[in-house]
Amino acid sequence: FDRVQVQNPIVEMDGDEMTRIIWSMIKEKLIFPYLNLDVKYFDLGILNRDATDDNVTTESAEAALKYNVAIKCATITPDEARVKEFGLKSMWRSPNGTIRNILNGTVFREPILCRNIPRIVPGWKKPICIGRHAFGDQYRATDTVITGPGKLKMVFGYEHRLIDDMVAYAVKSEGGYVWACKNYDGDVQSDLLAQGFGSLGLMTSVLLSSDGKTLEAEAAHGTVTRHFRLHQKGQETSTNSIASIFAWTRGLEHRAKLDENERLLDFVHKLEAACIETVEAGKMTKDLAILIHGPKYVPFSLDV
Ligand code: NAD
Repeated sequence: FDRVQVQNPIVEMDGDEMTRIIWSMIKEKLIFPYLNLDVKYFDLGILNRDATDDNVTTESAEAALKYNVAIKCATITPDEARVKEFGLKSMWRSPNGTIRNILNGTVFREPILCRNIPRIVPGWKKPICIGRHAFGDQYRATDTVITGPGKLKMVFGYEHRLIDDMVAYAVKSEGGYVWACKNYDGDVQSDLLAQGFGSLGLMTSVLLSSDGKTLEAEAAHGTVTRHFRLHQKGQETSTNSIASIFAWTRGLEHRAKLDENERLLDFVHKLEAACIETVEAGKMTKDLAILIHGPKYVPFSLDV
């Protein structure tokens, strides 16, 4: 069969630990056999960030702005323990933070719904998509001394509710809307929503630049270190790969829209449907099996 031709390149940002292992399987089994794709590869694994004094992160974000599509694997954000573990030259900043500051824009997080996966909040029937302004707020706040009289104006487009009111509304609603948040609120609320919808393994995340042209797609979860420790010991794990697969499909969907590539659009929609149909047919990882059957009835001893 002939592979789908993709006219323009995408930027791939590789990552760390368990997700790096899943990432290479996704490329090998689900993407490269089906597409003729020019990949601009950047290794954002912690050791290469250290070797390049983190320049690779900045370069990858600049490439994202150039080619308009980036697909990112989860990466370690070093803390003191990680500096020690890898003997790092410095406690490099969060790659996601660096990329967000270069791309500016808004992060949208949307859960993937499968009919047979019960939600912790049972009333949620439709996705709640969090839009998070990915710049400023707590992370860039500076104090200003106002020396004279004047007027301070805050102008809102989008319905405005205070965060406490909005949280109360969200848990009672049935979903089906975009919730626009400031940077820090969006950070916290998107983690809460991911849990409420069931599993982090079913939460997608895209960062869209303010002109709508550049999109970076990733899974909302991290590198799943706990599973990686088991994998390092040669033990089996049950890591959900769906959100990482959706990082590829959401990035390629943007490529397809920019290039008006109908075949590519058809491919990504079929791949997404295949993931959901697989779960709905009863084949799934342990994080999802527990949601259906409860921890006691999941008949294998993998650590979650
Ligand atoms: P994590 O999201 O990697 O894992 C937290 C827990 O959630 C896991 O122990 C597991 O129980 C569950 N989980 C998450 N994803 C899962 C999946 N796909 N399948 C099954 N279960 C899953 O968060 P963490 O343990 O706090 O962080 C691990 C590393 O990831 C840290 O080094 C952190 O800096 C990094 N991190 C990266 C990103 C990113 O790149 N976007 C986001 C968060 C954390």
